[in-house]
Amino acid sequence: MRSGCSRSVENYEKMEQIGEGTYGQVFMARSNTTGEIVALKKVRMDNEKEGFPITAIREIKILKSLDHKNVIKLKEIVTSKAHALNQNKGSIYMVFEYMDHDLTGLADRPGMKFSEPQIKCYMKQLLTGLYYCHRNNILHRDIKGSNLLIDNNGILKLADFGLARSCASESSKTLTNRVITLWYRPPELLLGTQFYGPAVDMWSAGCIFAELLLGKPILPGKNELEQLDLMFKLCGSPVPVDWPEVELLPWASSFVGKKRFPRRVQDVFRRFSRSARSLVESFLTLNPTHRISARDALDSDYFWEEPIPCSPQDLPKYEPSHEFQTRKRRQVWLC
Ligand code: AMP
Repeated sequence: MRSGCSRSVENYEKMEQIGEGTYGQVFMARSNTTGEIVALKKVRMDNEKEGFPITAIREIKILKSLDHKNVIKLKEIVTSKAHALNQNKGSIYMVFEYMDHDLTGLADRPGMKFSEPQIKCYMKQLLTGLYYCHRNNILHRDIKGSNLLIDNNGILKLADFGLARSCASESSKTLTNRVITLWYRPPELLLGTQFYGPAVDMWSAGCIFAELLLGKPILPGKNELEQLDLMFKLCGSPVPVDWPEVELLPWASSFVGKKRFPRRVQDVFRRFSRSARSLVESFLTLNPTHRISARDALDSDYFWEEPIPCSPQDLPKYEPSHEFQTRKRRQVWLC
């Protein structure tokens, strides 16, 4: 990434909007000097009375510290000038390498069904990226399909570090539990913990794995209560024998020991191989201290037995597809 003074956004020609992030719009753009296609992510400043948003500062700081083939690369920051006449405050954009797809957009294509070697290839890359982040004490805290970007060489990269944070030397500090998109949020956060670590991302990775296998989201709750209900109906109700600390969690008393649901993971995933079922079980473990780490997941039989993962360049090439565009297209069809 360039350092020092930031360049102007006029170095890029905006082409079309490809995403709407929590913190701003994302555009496809072309560099006027090199012709390279990039993604411009506008930093949303609407609610900022006090200058540059802290969330964006955190995201930029974290992205600058990471350098891995399965993590999105921040190329530079560019700015647009303030216009005194129309009271335009000026904007700030993060410039990223352009990625053709996100996993949700790809999976939502009509008739799309991933083969086992393809699922293994995507999961291996997701876990390699997570292993790198966790080794560097970064929690992503918003792993979901639309934040897993894929280029036309089949390389998958973790993106949107807007909720990420460093967990080094912070083990005694409390963290917010209001992170991770509901369907991918682990039980400990839903039960109100403020002390957590990399296991939160591993739950989300497990939800994605299960979704790739079944072809649909596994825990599509409409609110936090329903999310816990769906989760316990699939993974069984938490019991202190398996998860002693659960009783100490802030909102546990409303759920633990009330209705008892049995665990149904083996049954729901019965048509998949023994090693696939075993990996789903290890990801979707309610007790975060027993949940599998990215490193151990990469070592699991699933990735080493036949059929082995295909290589990224052997994945099929698709027309660009982003969740935002798929959603927009669907809205047009519905009108
Ligand atoms: P984000 O706020 O980073 O989650 O971005 C919102 C959406 O914009 C993502 O789900 C992607 O569809 C799209 N997007 C973000 N970054 C890129 C990129 N580097 N290349 C292509 N599309 C992107």
